[in-house]
Amino acid sequence: MSSLKLQHLDKIYDNNVQAVFDFNLDVNDGELIVLVGPSGCGKSTTLRMVAGLEDISGGKLIIDGKDVTAMPPKDRDIAMVFQNYALYGHMTIYENMAFSLMLRKENKNEIHQKVLAAADILGLTDQLNKKPSQLSGGQRQRVAMGRAIVRTPKVFLFDEPLSNLDAKLRGATRREILLLHKRLNATMLYVTHDQTEALTLADRIVCMSMGHVQQIGTPLELYDSPANLFVAGFIGLPPMNFFEVEVKNGQLVCEDFTEELTADEKAALREYEGRQITLGVRPENIIEGGNICVRVFSNENLGQTTLVNGTMQKHKITCKFREWCNYKAGDEVMVSFNRKHFFDKETTQAIRLG
Ligand code: ADP
Repeated sequence: MSSLKLQHLDKIYDNNVQAVFDFNLDVNDGELIVLVGPSGCGKSTTLRMVAGLEDISGGKLIIDGKDVTAMPPKDRDIAMVFQNYALYGHMTIYENMAFSLMLRKENKNEIHQKVLAAADILGLTDQLNKKPSQLSGGQRQRVAMGRAIVRTPKVFLFDEPLSNLDAKLRGATRREILLLHKRLNATMLYVTHDQTEALTLADRIVCMSMGHVQQIGTPLELYDSPANLFVAGFIGLPPMNFFEVEVKNGQLVCEDFTEELTADEKAALREYEGRQITLGVRPENIIEGGNICVRVFSNENLGQTTLVNGTMQKHKITCKFREWCNYKAGDEVMVSFNRKHFFDKETTQAIRLG
């Protein structure tokens, strides 16, 4: 059993840059948490504080009920898998995987069994006598995971483990990590800037911006009910479209369209009557047919779907249609929205329906 509590964690670097502000998270035993956000938002700093590679400036870190805030990394029972794999080039794969256990002076026979078991899980049994340079990027990544697995740590930490792999291998390795997580039932904290990785891997996602946690929730919660404009724009690809609209007589009005509101929407927006709000519409929630006119400027066929970029009177818009389309630049297509998100323009917080 291994739970992890991050309580009011702050990080202020020596140059007085505050990279993390009041980070709070309870990770349950066996949970896979993905920290996601743009470069520089404080994800790696948070992970490195958990690993003990950075001092914690404020707050507490608790592993299995024990305060480890000031404990050195080697005593925390945590294993980290890095982006650059950090393998020892002069050692065989076997030796790379056995190394940390040898340092701990574990029994040779037990080390042997652990390495073989990890190699079996990762499909590396035939590679154990090779050197890292003889392996592909994907295999090296698996060795890096193997080194973590043999230690049976309380918590696995992953720092952008897939970013050195090409797109195809990234997908395959992502699925391996998911299987590994299920098989080991391990508690994992995983950092990435890639929202697709977050959506596909996480039990829960922590979305960060500029050192602050923006939202914690399941992938569906972040996709379907983003807490604010930042999360709405970061999760989902292509990103959500945003429109400045006025709430007027129970309708949404702008130069480009007048949209009727449902009874629930009217109730939620009552206090905004006569004011501007931000309307968010995901590209996949725009369908062909309706009374909103889009002038096309590009048509990108992706196979099962087509991305159509266009303009209205005022706003640009990206639509994701569910079929192969052949629009030409200058064509006009009539569309409608089948799902809307509302945000307070001043606070940028989501306006929730009843
Ligand atoms: P991310 O992992 O989300 O890309 P980081 O945690 O690496 O972000 O960085 C968060 C912020 O902290 C950035 O503004 C970065 O420049 C700053 N930072 C990171 N490491 C250091 C350091 N060693 N000294 C000073 N500032 C740092």
